[in-house]
Amino acid sequence: WPSDTDPDAELQAILDRELERQNTTIQLIASENFTSPAVIAATGSVLTNKYSEGYPGKRYYGGNAVVDEAEDLARRRVCDLFGAEHANVQPHSGANANLAVYLAFLEAGDTVLGMSLDHGGHLTHGSPVNISGRMYDFVPYGVTESDERLDYDRIRDLAVEHRPKMIVAGATAYPRVIEPEPLRAIADEVGALLMFDAAHIAGLIAGGAHPNPVPHADVVTFTTHKTLRGPRGGCILTRSEHAAAIDKAVFPGLQGGPLEHVIAAKAVAFREAADPSFRTYAAQIVANAQALAQALGQQGFRLVSGGTDNHLMLVDLRPFDADLTGKAAQEVLDRAGITLNRNAIPDDPRSPFVTSGLRIGTPAVTTQGMTETEMPLVADLIARALRHRDDDAELSAVRDEVTTLCAKFTPYR
Ligand code: PLP
Repeated sequence: WPSDTDPDAELQAILDRELERQNTTIQLIASENFTSPAVIAATGSVLTNKYSEGYPGKRYYGGNAVVDEAEDLARRRVCDLFGAEHANVQPHSGANANLAVYLAFLEAGDTVLGMSLDHGGHLTHGSPVNISGRMYDFVPYGVTESDERLDYDRIRDLAVEHRPKMIVAGATAYPRVIEPEPLRAIADEVGALLMFDAAHIAGLIAGGAHPNPVPHADVVTFTTHKTLRGPRGGCILTRSEHAAAIDKAVFPGLQGGPLEHVIAAKAVAFREAADPSFRTYAAQIVANAQALAQALGQQGFRLVSGGTDNHLMLVDLRPFDADLTGKAAQEVLDRAGITLNRNAIPDDPRSPFVTSGLRIGTPAVTTQGMTETEMPLVADLIARALRHRDDDAELSAVRDEVTTLCAKFTPYR
């Protein structure tokens, strides 16, 4: 091997710097997490060498007897974890999982109800810049002006008016519980399929901190790398009656060869999520988010919808400082060693590239071992950095405190 004699020093230096960044800065991106060494090991395993188009027992290449066992293990574990009848663990990402569901059930031009991007939905829920919005006729629903929450009566009215073939539930920036049961009732009333995109909250569901949509939805999609703490990828759960249609849509409909090394890592993550300690983890993610939201409120920030029930909060920056945009805040916090992302707040007057808000999540800091005890300090560091954003000395003092805090909770030693 060339690399035995000639190690790739150039790439290694980059990897070392990314490890250092993850170990020494606070990760508050709601869709990120730290995976276990076992997940990382499976992702870096020899399964990356194997072509295995098809499904266990029905492959288009030889040599798949062992790979079949790995994929079967992942399917079995995820069905047990969520109480599902059938699983497809091959989607390369959450976006692919969603597209596969659309491909399985919809024709071009069909009407679908989905949460609008600027109220917290995902690009794949019908945004005009995404293939979902170009192929299908998505009718958006959003949160109310008064309490910034979903109003199931309004969703019902829209469903009755537009008679969608499918209702898509789920969000990428919504801090409250999404109830599967009222959505099932609406779907039944208008004869629609119900797809629940649980990308963000899959770990909370697995850990018993949020209601499980699997008994209520026709199909549930999710990503494996957010609260669920697995490798980067997607997954689809469905009832047996839809199994063949979903499998056909993923392969050969949308993808070629599956990433069996990632599927093996998904199997590892599903096992970890079935451990009783994961219930404690899921509850702690929510407790941390609630403690952080409360502390940010005390620092003068406004929380969209007044707080959070899950792993994330949306912060409206305007009451804190009317001139501070989400973009500027994200950049200042990056300099202070606090990583998060700007996010539109409902009916944001600023463009999606600039925004008036921040999205903040607690899955990663919870994995590191932080609890409610550290959350007031995290809120204080955020507020101080933003208040003194033009003061280099103060930003550097915050950066030092961030380093000290992270040294107590280093994810990878
Ligand atoms: N669905 C939702 C609700 C999401 O939040 C995301 C990602 O943030 C996705 C789908 C897409 O996942 P991926 O980035 O793996 O394509």
